[in-house]
Amino acid sequence: MSSKSLKRKSGQFVLPGERLGVIEEFVSNAGTYVKDGVIYSKVVGRALPDTLNKRVSVYPLVRGAKVPKIGSKVLGQVTKVQKQNAFVRIFRIGEHQLSGYFSGILHISDVHLRYVDSMFNVCKPGDIIRAKVISDKNGTFHLFTKDRELGVVYAFCMQCGYILEQKRQRMHCSRCGEIEKRKTALDYGKCVIA
Ligand SMILES: [Zn+2]
Repeated sequence: MSSKSLKRKSGQFVLPGERLGVIEEFVSNAGTYVKDGVIYSKVVGRALPDTLNKRVSVYPLVRGAKVPKIGSKVLGQVTKVQKQNAFVRIFRIGEHQLSGYFSGILHISDVHLRYVDSMFNVCKPGDIIRAKVISDKNGTFHLFTKDRELGVVYAFCMQCGYILEQKRQRMHCSRCGEIEKRKTALDYGKCVIA
């Protein structure tokens, strides 16, 4: 990541393990760690790059040992998508930001009231998704999005990474023209993450 893109990241919400820059450009400061020359966020918080002093830190958001419960509404980032399942890093429970994250899984049968043929038309890695916890069997939080207010709240273009705009039933990239599909929440693109 160039310092220019890091500058754009100023104040931006970041998750643990999120790449912030490289040691050639910045000094790792509070709330960050370095691995193989790359600076990552250690916490859920806001990235604060200081381009003048060439330092980057992350200001942590509210901490606490809160655990998702059945019925909890959660917010997470999609990490991996298979035909039948999507894997989610849960970083918020209700209004409570977590300092780490919990692993969640969304099965295709819990996505929509309508039949869904493939998870690839529901969400993609990197997307931010709102879901409800329906089970915590075997330490995994099983998620559910069968509601108008549940589903993807922010989606990113698979070609160029730009945020997708929702146009009727389709997701459109205004930068590269890519058209994709998602199961979106009613407030897609308007949700305040942090
Ligand atoms: Zn694009």
